[in-house]
Amino acid sequence: METKELLELKENLDNGLLTVAQVFEKLKNAVKPWKTEEWKSKKEKTIKKFCEVCGTNEGVLNLLNHDLPPTFSDIRINLINDIKIHIAQDVFDSLNLEDFKNQIQSEKRLACPACRFLTFRERKTMLPKYKCAKNHEFDLPIEVDYYPLARTTDLDEAIGFAKNGELNKQLNKLIAEEYQAITKFALSESLNYSIQYMTLENTSTVCKKCLFIERKDTIEMKALNISEITKKLFIQLYDN
Ligand SMILES: [Zn+2]
Ligand SMILES: [Zn+2]
Repeated sequence: METKELLELKENLDNGLLTVAQVFEKLKNAVKPWKTEEWKSKKEKTIKKFCEVCGTNEGVLNLLNHDLPPTFSDIRINLINDIKIHIAQDVFDSLNLEDFKNQIQSEKRLACPACRFLTFRERKTMLPKYKCAKNHEFDLPIEVDYYPLARTTDLDEAIGFAKNGELNKQLNKLIAEEYQAITKFALSESLNYSIQYMTLENTSTVCKKCLFIERKDTIEMKALNISEITKKLFIQLYDN
């Protein structure tokens, strides 16, 4: 797909003339950017006669594009993670214990009176009769509250566990509510990346030997760039 078509596709997606599914369909059947005539002719004009890293003019020279587009699903996953991080504190602060109290049910268990450990054994002849896993000896175990979901006898820990579970549930619910908007945004951004890629603005001519090293840097840069677009989505979703 050439730049003109990509721009048109993005515009139609953004203003609702095409659905996400329709855009995917068009992209699936399209010619890959680097196989278009536009790409080939731009490449011919851009590529230099020597490696811009080591200076050699021998061997095959490649045009390395530093604007390597991240995949659509990478963009979407990163957006979702960033949104979760962005709103987690607010959601956490708004949690009401009453709403998830049923997650903090306890049952009675027998435990060591010194350390409240549930693991202890009964001795056949020696006294005191019981010995816990931490070597406390005692005549009678005590009854403690055990919270099976959090696997603890500590109430604060049980509350913390339930709170985290509720936080994740709430975050997933909020993501689910915005899932279509996030998907559309991710696809639109993915088209942006393709459009930028097609400009060949950030390219360098490299020899075969330098290509390997340079490509590794490009892939690392790519991971960094994604989180920058999240800000735009935040504004769209939450700041109006
Ligand atoms: Zn080189
Ligand atoms: Zn003990």
